[in-house]
Amino acid sequence: MILLYKKYFLFFLVIFYSFECYSQNIKSFFKAPDGEYLISTDLHIHTVFSDGSVWPDVRVDEAERESLDLIAITDHLEYQPHSKDIPNPDRNRSFEIAKSHRSKKSNLIVINGAEITRSMAPGHINAVFINDANKILHMDSLSGILEANKQGAFVFWNHPNWISQRNDGIAKLDPYHQYLIKNKLLHGIEVVNENSFSEEAFEIALNNNLTVLGTSDIHGLTEWAYNISSGGHRPITFVISNSKSEKGIHNGLLNNQTFIWFNDLLIGSADNLIPVLYSNLNVTSNGYKSNAILAEIVLKNHSSVPIKLEYIGEYNLHENSKMIEIDPYSSKIILVKTKEFREKIKLPFRVLNALISSKTNALISYDISI
Ligand SMILES: [Zn+2]
Ligand SMILES: [Zn+2]
Repeated sequence: MILLYKKYFLFFLVIFYSFECYSQNIKSFFKAPDGEYLISTDLHIHTVFSDGSVWPDVRVDEAERESLDLIAITDHLEYQPHSKDIPNPDRNRSFEIAKSHRSKKSNLIVINGAEITRSMAPGHINAVFINDANKILHMDSLSGILEANKQGAFVFWNHPNWISQRNDGIAKLDPYHQYLIKNKLLHGIEVVNENSFSEEAFEIALNNNLTVLGTSDIHGLTEWAYNISSGGHRPITFVISNSKSEKGIHNGLLNNQTFIWFNDLLIGSADNLIPVLYSNLNVTSNGYKSNAILAEIVLKNHSSVPIKLEYIGEYNLHENSKMIEIDPYSSKIILVKTKEFREKIKLPFRVLNALISSKTNALISYDISI
């Protein structure tokens, strides 16, 4: 009898667990390094409460459908082209509507933000994790940035390569930005905005200890901009955090713990990106193939990104060139001609779609027992 109860209990446990997984965000973009969470975020989003084309609830629906963990609603404070139809006296309203729209089962975190919209310098500045956007409105740009910092905000420079403000498309620091960085009032920079990737912004981030960010700056629908239903995705900033809480994610951003997924490209400092590559590419051996001196090596990709490798070791491969691509959530077998039977070999790779500086690819290497 007890055994029967146990059986039923286990049965219901499995059903309950399956339901819980189904009803929550179940998509995992990457396998996180031990003890860490990789939090998927978009920190730059517009609605009809500035120059966007959708009501704030659509932003929540999109993020939930795309399995994001956190979004910030960052409408322009000063730029209000819909003001005749939507007077918008309360600049926190778009965030409040979005936050209250989350479904009961949703794990999505929605945070308050604002785009402080000024000419260069400083250009457009996002402040997220703010308490009150209204307090920042009507201030001059420095007072607004100081007020955002007073509210504990994470503050970053938007699209520093935007051709409307930099007609050569080159991101560079003005004295104003240097002042903000020196006084720890500016914490991050968009290296990716919408469809642009700024190599200069990546270098500025690495040289000035700024957090690397990629955002959608979405105004229309993400489906139309990124073909989500055909397998596309918006630019996503992953925050490496030891907790899933809002506070943990906020700290991860302030401590530079991010990397970006943009198209097929991964962008981040070596410290942040290389552990993620190791936890998502497993390399193991099936031993030698029958009596031939061909080591059968299995490359397993645990992520939603195709991993594009160049093998840079001493051996030749039997069925592949040195260029190897492993599809998302897939395995690939390569045959390595080791010339004689060996117990161990080293397999070093250059990751062609992972950048640790603007011109440097990530290098990874595996010691494999055959
Ligand atoms: Zn902007
Ligand atoms: Zn914007």
